[in-house]
Amino acid sequence: MSLDLTTHLIHHPYEPEPGFAAPQPAVHKASTVFFRNTAAMRGADRRRKHVYSYGLHGTPTTFLLEERLAALEGGEHCVLVPSGLAAITLVSLALLAQGDEVLVPDNAYDPNKAFSAETLARWGIGCQLYDPMDPDDLASRIGPRTRLVWLEAPGSVTMEFPDLTALAAVCRARGVPSALDNTWGAGLAFQPFEAGVDLSVHALTKYPSGGGDVLMGSVVTRDAALHARVKAMRASLGLGVGVNDVETVLRSLPSMDLRYRAQDRNARALTDWLARRPEIVQVLHPARPDSPGHAHWQALCGPEGLAAGLFSVVFDARYGTAQVDAFCDALKLFKLGYSWGGPVSLVVPYDIASMRDPAVTDWPHGGVLVRLSLGFEAVADLRADLEQALQVLGSA
Ligand SMILES: *Cc1c(COP(=O)(O)O)cnc(C)c1O
Repeated sequence: MSLDLTTHLIHHPYEPEPGFAAPQPAVHKASTVFFRNTAAMRGADRRRKHVYSYGLHGTPTTFLLEERLAALEGGEHCVLVPSGLAAITLVSLALLAQGDEVLVPDNAYDPNKAFSAETLARWGIGCQLYDPMDPDDLASRIGPRTRLVWLEAPGSVTMEFPDLTALAAVCRARGVPSALDNTWGAGLAFQPFEAGVDLSVHALTKYPSGGGDVLMGSVVTRDAALHARVKAMRASLGLGVGVNDVETVLRSLPSMDLRYRAQDRNARALTDWLARRPEIVQVLHPARPDSPGHAHWQALCGPEGLAAGLFSVVFDARYGTAQVDAFCDALKLFKLGYSWGGPVSLVVPYDIASMRDPAVTDWPHGGVLVRLSLGFEAVADLRADLEQALQVLGSA
């Protein structure tokens, strides 16, 4: 068959030699995937692992990242989704139906609380908040309609570290699946499935990306039946990830442990210094003995354990919002922005009282809270930046 030039270029016979090997894996981009024959097309069951049927359901590149993330978290199965929040909402949609109820810790990542309490209500799904520092409170709220319990360790703004093993054990004893938002631990600080949770959700946007430039999430589990439900819901919602983003995460993953440790060191160097400042009444970081749940962090992560490069400070109540805003605005190296795990240090001021249900958890502080996330800048430079901004706070 003699072909037109364009046809020839599209159907060119050259196939790259097999056996190419290099540090970074190949990037396979596809919506369409070719089948050998009609039998292969009809037989492609995308519910099975690593079957190629359509780009949305997986390519060699996405399967590779899913396998590496499952290994990172000590799980068996993983699905990728377009953001950390999408990983949270996917789990809730996969496990909940009309008439069910979900339990969420009162200090949880705020968009999870909003989705659980407001969005799910539109489908007739109930939500209760619980006190993550009190496993008995969780136990007392689990009822016949409870089909999912969310966990987070620590709370990502207020940093209380719960007794994760005890909370997971309460869920196991009552036969209710538990899902952990494991973005803070990142699979490095502790092994979520050893703590007894059923599903681990991870905002890959943070440490696995490491650049502040990618949005992605994952859901990892050891349980094949739970994985099948999550994967089926992902397919029915049509959630896929861009392969260029997957490539970026694959490239960043080998350095994640080094980056996590470096930011942990930077954070702890600054917490010691900030804790001695008269403007600050409390530094919230689970490795500090006076931080809520410190003993639980130590028990789970070990006496010399790791922590994410993230902490919060509570300002003395004599400084109002305007003064703390002036402190944040005066910072030069720390930028105002959400997220963490990237190269640039960040701050966010929070009004915690407005984020809590006083009937569920106590928030004992009157002052404004600022969360700091550490980048890779030199500690001495960051300390000098904080020092000059604290002077602005005092004079604002
Ligand atoms: C950032 C974050 C998320 C959401 O991740 P996105 O990719 O930004 O949607 C969820 N949970 C925690 C604890 C986070 O820090």
